[in-house]
Amino acid sequence: MNKLIKPAKKILSLKYGHKNVSVKNGQGTAWGWVNVNIDYPKSAVQCLGDTPFYCSNCSKAIQAISEEAEQLMNIAWQEAGVKPYSFCSDNNSSEINEVIVQVHYI
Ligand SMILES: [Zn+2]
Repeated sequence: MNKLIKPAKKILSLKYGHKNVSVKNGQGTAWGWVNVNIDYPKSAVQCLGDTPFYCSNCSKAIQAISEEAEQLMNIAWQEAGVKPYSFCSDNNSSEINEVIVQVHYI
């Protein structure tokens, strides 16, 4: 059982709504890897017209939501006393958590 799932699911559900959040164990791994999917209402973003790629507002919002979600999960994990797997970035200046957050507009 991935100990990271429950606290992450709880905090993200509070923020984005239970039915919009899916938190799963990374495939083929024991635990420590987390895949997060968030459904987000596109109506909440001021779309400038996607053509066919997301406009700057839509892509900025997706970026901001994934960062916010990661921050929330880090707080929840710290409180629960668990830690995601992490690795050093190429230039060794920072640790990158093995957490994938994907935001989907609905
Ligand atoms: Zn847009």
